Amino acid sequence: MTTTNIKSLTGGSGTLQLVKRLLNMRYTPDEIISETGLTRYKLGELIKAGAPIIREGRRVWIHGTSFAEWFIETRKTVSDKKKIRTDPCAPDEVYCLVCKERVKYTETRRENRLSSGICQWGHKVSKIVSRKDVE
Ligand SMILES: [Zn+2]
Repeated sequence: MTTTNIKSLTGGSGTLQLVKRLLNMRYTPDEIISETGLTRYKLGELIKAGAPIIREGRRVWIHGTSFAEWFIETRKTVSDKKKIRTDPCAPDEVYCLVCKERVKYTETRRENRLSSGICQWGHKVSKIVSRKDVE
């Protein structure tokens, strides 16, 4: 399962708040759905993705706080990954569209916050410098 899928499955912060309210008790999947606002489909996908459940014969139970813990942890891991991806480049780095990765570059021109230069492999690059690097 990709990161994007989990992100969409774990929903917005509204769902998170509701999940945090789950109690230290067993819920049926239907109860989880009505308590958290997750759809049946999303809950099913979360279980496939590893959400903890308790199987008892044909019945499936979900332990409220265990589910909440897993949910919060999974959601956090996803946000952390997202943070790493969107981390701004270091002052001497730029995302080169030709190299398709972050590379060192030499600045040749600066106009306010727009920095232009040459990537370490000789491609023309430019980036918006973050406000704190300008000062
Ligand atoms: Zn390049």
